Amino acid sequence: MKITVIGSGYVGVVAGACLASLGHEVICADSDSEKIGLLASGKLPIFEEGLEPLLKKALADGRIRFTNELDWSIGQSDILYITVGTPSRSDGEADLTALWSVVNVNRIAHSARGRKLLVVKSTVPVGTCDSVEQLLRDHAARCRIVDVVHNPEFLRQGSAVPDFLRPDRIVVGCNTEEARLAMKELHAGIPASIQYCDRRSAELIKYASNAFLAMKISFVNMIANLSDKLDIDVDEVAEGIGSDRRIGPLFLQSGIGYGGSCFPKDMKALQTLGQSVGCELPLIDAAERVNAAQPHVILDKLKSALSTLRGARIALLGLAFKSMTDDIREAPSLVVSRLLAAEGAILNAYDPMVRRYPIREVAVHDDMYLAIRACDAIVLLTEWDEFRLLDWRKVRETVRAGLIVDGRNMLALDGMKAVAEAYGLTYLSVGRPAVV
Ligand code: NAD
Repeated sequence: MKITVIGSGYVGVVAGACLASLGHEVICADSDSEKIGLLASGKLPIFEEGLEPLLKKALADGRIRFTNELDWSIGQSDILYITVGTPSRSDGEADLTALWSVVNVNRIAHSARGRKLLVVKSTVPVGTCDSVEQLLRDHAARCRIVDVVHNPEFLRQGSAVPDFLRPDRIVVGCNTEEARLAMKELHAGIPASIQYCDRRSAELIKYASNAFLAMKISFVNMIANLSDKLDIDVDEVAEGIGSDRRIGPLFLQSGIGYGGSCFPKDMKALQTLGQSVGCELPLIDAAERVNAAQPHVILDKLKSALSTLRGARIALLGLAFKSMTDDIREAPSLVVSRLLAAEGAILNAYDPMVRRYPIREVAVHDDMYLAIRACDAIVLLTEWDEFRLLDWRKVRETVRAGLIVDGRNMLALDGMKAVAEAYGLTYLSVGRPAVV
């Protein structure tokens, strides 16, 4: 099938390369010419494991092309995927400016020659696809796009390629049999069941899924804060509750809380959706409140261990919002950094993938041992595997004082007991007993 993907960001490039690997002919379009130039030469503006070889293969096979000529790209395919960003507006609502600039009657009228399927993959508020269809219907004489589908994306950054090609499920919100058959054919080769449903349900499924996961994280963080007061190990509690199949073990890792380009904005969009129809969503509000407080837990631990943060040298290990990505959008590290900078701490940082960071008080190093040199405390902010394999002897020789604060609970308590004993380090984490 011929597919044009409009919006070659994280989701667009992954979708484009994966669809090409399934044998489709793909054109990826974007308004950012610099990005398009990079992609056309087989280079990625993002880090995502397994994506570059897939992209290079698709380019070599002639199955993927990149362009910034949007109108032309719309004319080339029968299926249009929309994967533009839908960030938060200042009032919390999803900003659909990019979507409406693509679904522009003049653009579609001039460029779309035949009947087309418009697949909205971006996360959009309930009713958006109906409005898109209505707009195109109102101009039916000029736009012969008949079917609008919502096909929300559930990939996770860091495992985006396997998530796209082997997802738990595919959700397709569509109103016609023709659209349903086309979506089935499009996904042939992906071993997952497809849930066909109403478009509005599909739109809510995406927000509700993200909200549920965010709520799980906040729930375990709330229990972690209680465990801290009671001197209990929250990991044991999480294991106990997570082994109940009705609950499940995933997303029960306590720490500094969630971030990234999706959870925070989707939680806000869900809240404003609730407000718009007069429906309170107290669990969403509570999950947000718990999440906003988690960076302060780290700050408080540092403050009580170091007595003052003014002039203290703090090494931040990990800046990305999660491991296996270089994405720092809404990363918890940003909040922690700002809080520490406001307290007068001297901040050095290292992340295997992040080199540019927007907070000027943070000096980013490309060598971890330079970042931790003569520091008073190390704060782990992203769960990169290389931090699990630290050479503790070398760490001890490099730092000034041996305080480790683990914002991701990524190091095993037993292992850290042995390390603390051998090298005179203090290890603090979230909701787990201190190791001194
Ligand atoms: P992104 O910011 O990485 O990419 C968006 C792309 O759209 C950018 O390259 C931008 O240049 C392009 N764009 C903006 N306006 C345009 C226009 N008018 N015409 C053409 N291109 C335009 O965003 P993303 O992370 O890929 O997210 C896209 C959507 O998918 C969002 O709705 C997001 O919520 C959703 N989503 C994201 C993820 C994720 O992990 N990143 C996962 C699931 C769903």
